[in-house]
Amino acid sequence: MKKVRTRFAPSPTGFMHLGGLRTALYAYLYAKHHDGDFILRIEDTDRERFVEGALEVIYSSLLSSGLRYDEGPDVGGNYGPYTQSERKEIYMEYAKKLVELGGAYYCFCSKERLETLTDENGNRKYDKHCLKLSKEEVEKRIASGESFVIRQNIPLEGTSSYEDLIYGTIEVDYAELEDNILIKSDGMPTYNFANVIDDHLMEISHVIRGTEYLSSTPKYNLMYDAFGWERPVYIHLPTIMKDATRKLSKRYGDANFDDFINKGYIEEAIINYVALLGWCPKNNAEKMTIPEMIELFDLSGISKSPSIFDDVKLRWLNGEYLKAMSDDEFLTRAKPFFEKSEVSKLYDISKIAKIIKSRIEILSDIPEKVSFLVERPSFDSVLYENKKQKTDATVAKQVLPLVLTALSEIEDFSNDNLFKTLSSLSETLSIKSRQLFYVLRIALTGLEVTPGGATEILEILGKEESIKRVKSALELL
Ligand code: GLU
Repeated sequence: MKKVRTRFAPSPTGFMHLGGLRTALYAYLYAKHHDGDFILRIEDTDRERFVEGALEVIYSSLLSSGLRYDEGPDVGGNYGPYTQSERKEIYMEYAKKLVELGGAYYCFCSKERLETLTDENGNRKYDKHCLKLSKEEVEKRIASGESFVIRQNIPLEGTSSYEDLIYGTIEVDYAELEDNILIKSDGMPTYNFANVIDDHLMEISHVIRGTEYLSSTPKYNLMYDAFGWERPVYIHLPTIMKDATRKLSKRYGDANFDDFINKGYIEEAIINYVALLGWCPKNNAEKMTIPEMIELFDLSGISKSPSIFDDVKLRWLNGEYLKAMSDDEFLTRAKPFFEKSEVSKLYDISKIAKIIKSRIEILSDIPEKVSFLVERPSFDSVLYENKKQKTDATVAKQVLPLVLTALSEIEDFSNDNLFKTLSSLSETLSIKSRQLFYVLRIALTGLEVTPGGATEILEILGKEESIKRVKSALELL
């Protein structure tokens, strides 16, 4: 059996769209599931849209998402160059061959003439005007330096058909297609041409890409057929939507991989979530590592209908990844987000990291989550009232002065020691330790719900700040 070879073929736009990342992921998973190769090809023939630094964005997003390509511009391979702008001569050679085969023709029409070709609906469709030029005339005009393009020669009648592994049989009437430009006047190919030449020369067995190419694929098949080349297998993927009517778009800040990283999502969670946008594994797994996805990947789990991006689910999944991290790893990743808060100047963030790791969903939740450590919010003594804990302001009044004395006497301000000492204090007072800890936590934080228990918070705040907070809480009672 032929080796499976898939490719990801982004244009260097300067950002990694999550839809693109999903295409890359599925192409990667499909190849790896079948022990095949995954190739990166840069489609940069539109030189007007060149963006500085765009290649680095592609390389780094794939790398940090864990999608390693076997061949590509920066890693090499036997089918290079992998950057289309470096393959200009190759395309020209094949375009000339296609002209000889009758699948394409030179066109010298001026911009002005093309503008007159608009039909009553405002659609412009080329009228094959230059198809009738003789070979001699074409050669003469090229020799005289006249500017030209090469267009595809699409039959006027008939229907084309092919099988897509997701969408089934696709039929398109040739009349709906146009004689698109294959080689532009600057000698560069268009996507319409370059994708065919490259997929063939790079021996791509399965073309995996977005549904926007579903209806133009018959044009590409005409070229495979004209050259006598085997068509690849096609796998078109459903669109990712923001909601029922809008596509996920960078414009709304909801499609760019880097925007998510900056918001405090982690790469593993994003790639895991992206996998689920249109694919459901047989065992319905949700949290999966890339090796697990490779094992499970199966086209029958890919849906035809557009998938809707679900923020809440991505947040949840991200939280699951944070929880599963070691404390050290969490701290490394969380550090930049701690540094957005005063808290990093005041306290030992490694201790705070431990208490919040399982209580946030995304890293940018950190500054808000720890703001009570920077400044205790003002609160009213009704906050001490809790039926379940059997506490109220009276309990606080009874307990807090003694806690204050105990705190000033404790030398070892570690969570363990604080817990032991204050638990035995509650015994002396004949109250439940959880009552003591409840009112103390309110006094320290001014919040009903906090990450961490009273003694963990004491340890973070340290002796001086803890005493200050309990004192001022007593004054409010
Ligand atoms: N450069 C095309 C894009 O970014 C690639 C489409 C394909 O995979 O064939 O949409």
